Amino acid sequence: MPRKLRILIVSSEVVPFAKTGGLADVCGALPKALGELGHDVRILMPLYREVKISAHRIRRAPASQDMAIRLGEEETRIGFRTGKLPGSEVKVYFVDQPALYNRKGLYVDPEFGKDFPDNDRRFALLSRAALVQCEKLDWTPDIIHCHDWQAALVSLMIRDREYGPRFASTQTVLTIHNLGFQGNFPPQTLELLRVYQHLFYPMGPLEYHGKLSYLKAGVVFATKLNAVSPTYAREIQGSEEFGCGFEGILRERSADLVGILNGIDTNIWSPETDPDIAANYSCETLSRKVENKKSLCKRVGIPFRDGIPLLGTISRLTDQKGFDLFADIRDELLALPLQFILLGTGDGKYETLFREMARLNPQKFHVVVGFDNKLAHQIEAGVDCFLMPSRYEPCGLNQMMSMRYGTVPLVRATGGLADTVIDIDAVPERGNGFAFDQYDATLFLETIQRALKAYADKPRWRAMQQRGMSQDFSWRASARKYVELYEQALQR
Ligand code: ADP
Repeated sequence: MPRKLRILIVSSEVVPFAKTGGLADVCGALPKALGELGHDVRILMPLYREVKISAHRIRRAPASQDMAIRLGEEETRIGFRTGKLPGSEVKVYFVDQPALYNRKGLYVDPEFGKDFPDNDRRFALLSRAALVQCEKLDWTPDIIHCHDWQAALVSLMIRDREYGPRFASTQTVLTIHNLGFQGNFPPQTLELLRVYQHLFYPMGPLEYHGKLSYLKAGVVFATKLNAVSPTYAREIQGSEEFGCGFEGILRERSADLVGILNGIDTNIWSPETDPDIAANYSCETLSRKVENKKSLCKRVGIPFRDGIPLLGTISRLTDQKGFDLFADIRDELLALPLQFILLGTGDGKYETLFREMARLNPQKFHVVVGFDNKLAHQIEAGVDCFLMPSRYEPCGLNQMMSMRYGTVPLVRATGGLADTVIDIDAVPERGNGFAFDQYDATLFLETIQRALKAYADKPRWRAMQQRGMSQDFSWRASARKYVELYEQALQR
């Protein structure tokens, strides 16, 4: 029996409390799986406005007193609240600092569509608060597992003298969910991090092209690093296209960098029990899936067409997710015998484009601009085929969610998509979807045409659906890999 570890997960978003993307899914599911393996796992995140305090029974800890944290010249008072991750015994600590976290939006001001100007302070505070909370609880984790740039400074701060020997044997793991987000700030941010001034010099641990980079600090100082799929872990070291300028820094740490594929929370994403969908179904009762298609069409107001494939996408509307390919083939796409539902929010140019496509083709194309969890479940259950033509994709969760729901994924073979989707035409006996290699609009269109052809061959389509549904995408296997990584970190 492996030893029981004390693990603190520090993340800026966690399902079901606050979410903008896959990071939240991971940080809501991995801790549960680690807890089930017998470890003492706790989570720390900000108390944003969208965290539902009473629904989740989040309480002010009995002995909780506000504390002062100094960042640069300023002192900031913070409090802590505690709750539990639903469906588990995992404790969640919320950093209560209303002026910094109690606002609309997590990172971006919805009014101006721009990052909050004080994100440097907000997330430097998050890292500092994680260490302060451990002290306060007199609880010393073996591992602090930091997620993305928002929590990356923990690896730097943990060695500060003010904590004395408390964290002397604590090690840190940094998970990179998306290198496109680096937390790079102007040099003035050094005001907040004045004690680390000596680390900010050209090519130094905090410096990145004249800016102060939180992610770089994490990459340099974390004991171990991982990316969220084996292919992405290779890609980010291989070229600037994927490494976004960090490829050299990552190569320097390649001995400590691995790829661990995300799982999905199969309690939340399961067609057998999903409370948000019209009809529950399993691999054995797959014929009931069509009820969800009917219900989805009704909900969004497009006619249900038997025998015509319904395609879907749920995504942040950004260049990363391949929406320029959609834009390139929009006329050809709409000329094909298919219907399409898109749920997403993001870049204004794409919102406008898709609204216009929907206006011109109301019977075939529907877009919902916004973030809607329930509708996301209904789309996973209702559509026949899920499109993810990403330019890059660290792991991607929707292809795995889709397969669980008997919805066939169509993807560009990059990152985690390449690790999970096997093209049916390339490997007929094991194929669970469709994949194309080059980031190219014509190839994307041809792949959609291949999918339409396959859809017409019912037994073949059904075999593909069943193959996807019977795969194990739970967190069990990946959680074990994280424990191995923690153990390696502790051997330092
Ligand atoms: P990323 O983290 O890059 O956005 P992932 O595929 O890893 O991409 O995870 C995205 C997660 O966010 C999935 O759970 C997806 O269903 C969800 N999601 C994305 N956009 C929306 C939206 N507009 N409404 C509801 N859920 C969304």
